[in-house]
Amino acid sequence: MEEDVWKKAKSNAANAMRNSDWVQWIHEGTGFATTQAERDLRIVWEALSGKKHCAVCMNLSGCCFPRNNMPEYPLHPNCHCKTEPIGAITATARCRESKVKGWIFNPSVPNGKKELFYEWGYSIIDKDWLISEYIRQGKEKYERGDFTLHKLNEYGQQINIIIELPRKDRIGTVTFTSGWMVYPNGVIELVTGFGRR
Ligand SMILES: [Zn+2]
Repeated sequence: MEEDVWKKAKSNAANAMRNSDWVQWIHEGTGFATTQAERDLRIVWEALSGKKHCAVCMNLSGCCFPRNNMPEYPLHPNCHCKTEPIGAITATARCRESKVKGWIFNPSVPNGKKELFYEWGYSIIDKDWLISEYIRQGKEKYERGDFTLHKLNEYGQQINIIIELPRKDRIGTVTFTSGWMVYPNGVIELVTGFGRR
């Protein structure tokens, strides 16, 4: 047990060192799109400009990544973006209640997700705790650079973060993938609460 804690601390420290080398993606002249609605506007803007402005780049603007775990740079020929070194980041993880309440535990959605959570001993009464866990683990792991890059498109960069939960029905834990959208200045927002195991 004690050895495990030590091993974990050591690997956390190693990650922290490796991931103090963060950069911020900057597309000059457009400002940061901090909401989905603002991102949609950038997509319209790309169309109106005759594709002169790239929505992918505009919507990446302001987003932060460890240098060793970032979208390919430059993204395309004549890309006007730059990456600015920012050291380490302080992250903010956002999780809307509807993601857990209306989705994982939605009785009318036969997605097999709630059955899994029920099997592990969770139900809707655990929703606040689950939300706080998503936020805690999402923030910690993103700050450590402990994520994998997922889909990148005109809506932004998605990343996957492994969530680990204690089982409530018996001893042990379950782990599964969660999907997050990266927003400017260290913000991530949960988009998929439960992916594959
Ligand atoms: Zn660009």
